[in-house]
Amino acid sequence: MLLALDVENMFDYVIVGGGSAGCVLANRLSADSRVTVCLLEAGPPDRHPLIHMPMGILWMMRSKVLNWNFYTEDEAEMGGRRMFWPRGRTLGGSSSSNAMCYLRGHPADYDQWAALGNPGWSFADVLPYFKRAQHQERGASAYHGTGGPLNVADLRSPSSLTRVFVEAGVEVGLPHNDDFNGASPEGVGPFQVTQKNGRRCSTARGYLAPVRSRANLTVITQAHATRVLLEQQRAVGVEFLRRGRLQQVGARQEVILSAGAINSPHLLMLSGIGDARKLHDAGVVPRHHLPGVGQNLQDHLDVILVQACTQPVSYGITWRSVLRGGLDLVRYLAAGRGMFTTNGAEGCAVARSTPEEELPDLQFHFSPGKLRDHARDLLFLCGDGYSLHVCNLRPKSRGEICLASADPQAAPLIRANYLTHPEDIEHLLRGFKLARRIFAARAFDAYRGREISPGREVKSDEDIRRFIRQQAETIYHPVGTCKMGSDALAVVDASLRVHGLSGLRVVDASIMPLLVGGNTNAPAIMIAEKASDMIMAARRD
Ligand SMILES: Cc1cc2nc3c(=O)[nH]c(=O)nc-3n(C[C@H](O)[C@H](O)[C@H](O)COP(=O)(O)OP(=O)(O)OC[C@H]3O[C@@H](n4cnc5c(N)ncnc54)[C@H](O)[C@@H]3O)c2cc1C
Repeated sequence: MLLALDVENMFDYVIVGGGSAGCVLANRLSADSRVTVCLLEAGPPDRHPLIHMPMGILWMMRSKVLNWNFYTEDEAEMGGRRMFWPRGRTLGGSSSSNAMCYLRGHPADYDQWAALGNPGWSFADVLPYFKRAQHQERGASAYHGTGGPLNVADLRSPSSLTRVFVEAGVEVGLPHNDDFNGASPEGVGPFQVTQKNGRRCSTARGYLAPVRSRANLTVITQAHATRVLLEQQRAVGVEFLRRGRLQQVGARQEVILSAGAINSPHLLMLSGIGDARKLHDAGVVPRHHLPGVGQNLQDHLDVILVQACTQPVSYGITWRSVLRGGLDLVRYLAAGRGMFTTNGAEGCAVARSTPEEELPDLQFHFSPGKLRDHARDLLFLCGDGYSLHVCNLRPKSRGEICLASADPQAAPLIRANYLTHPEDIEHLLRGFKLARRIFAARAFDAYRGREISPGREVKSDEDIRRFIRQQAETIYHPVGTCKMGSDALAVVDASLRVHGLSGLRVVDASIMPLLVGGNTNAPAIMIAEKASDMIMAARRD
């Protein structure tokens, strides 16, 4: 029930979540001065300087305030581990805490979305939105746009080891690829990144900051949405908790959930929208039976090969890097260059683990430093080394997000169900072997120390499978929990409207019916760009 609201608490559109997608919507919808827009973000403003310094990602992983710090439930196929799932909790959302790698996935990914019964989502349909979002520093082309809010750049000061990695990849037979978002996403090359002048270009910086002074846009931070307010089958507002006080805002046109793949389904369930029996069991009064909410969870599972480096050229913590750090900090502050502009994952390879794969099934992220436990293990970062992440791009395992309780401040239950489909581990096994071949290539001869993790004693396929189960982690791409479609588990239609309700859409990474074969920030931004056109076209006078 919507309480009687003052006119200043009524808006045309209320957006929940100021992340990758939410900031795009706030910008595009408020571009029409006739409409009023309210953006609610649970986290604080993005003022901390380490958000904007690319290497600050190391600190973002540990922040208690700017990170939701989720954990999965015990993962049965992963040695019973509870696995860390960081998500950004500030303006910009996960685009304020991610590794800035700019990759859209394979064109066939979007064609599959369309083939699943989602008209308007083929690659040809969505390419204009990728381009509209973008300012490609290399210039416009058939695949790239210029003049958009999201700055896409080459790394300004890549490590010399990244060049070695690319040479090594070519040596083992991968085609050199200078543009993973061009004609083909396959091959090996340096990542392009969402940075501008050596600083992170989150959606808060690219989309929101330039329009914050619009009179028709209200941004409320530290506003934790607790439920969507429904009148019969229509969403009419949002309740949120701010500084200990429950408040409400009303939506004349629409409520739009952009709280991400974990929190958007969580918020729907807290509002009584989901599987009626499960909601009832968790103590929430069911308002609208929609069994797919929280289902269809997909994520990229990632295993890391770590090698010692015999030359003092990596980003490991050493006396040399500490001494050099002062100089590099000055370079960063004065010119946006140097070690602090690294995104941590500088090199990329996209490949097929066997020639029979229809689409590339593997992605590699190369880091010119030693990584373990999401870079939270600072001791492990000490010393020179380099790492290669391997992930299976098209996992068949499916997980779910469920209510742990009716308390909106309690985290939801996350069951990733990694490796529950038997094929998934086989892709990782083949990928891991390819990673070893890349590190064994001649290009690395002058740098190669001992293999630190897993170590040469891990030899047989069974050894490697065991290592994957013990050590693999998320590479931060959960999607699919409010999937778009028209089947029994679909949550939104092809216009991203929640099935069976009016005035309510979901616009974020959760709507992807299938995980794309690449990173997920650019796709989340594209989704919001496209949604903004659909929302404006549906505006009621
Ligand atoms: C550590 C990390 C590294 C990554 N690296 C990359 C990369 O290099 N390249 C890439 O392409 N992708 C990367 N990703 C993934 C990518 O950033 C995400 O897929 C993308 O940001 C998702 O966008 P979204 O809009 O769906 O959600 P988010 O950007 O997470 O936004 C959700 C927003 O909603 C807010 N929110 C949540 N619940 C509530 C509530 N109840 N009330 C109010 N506000 C709420 C959150 O605080 C957040 O600001 C990474 C992600 C992480 C976490």
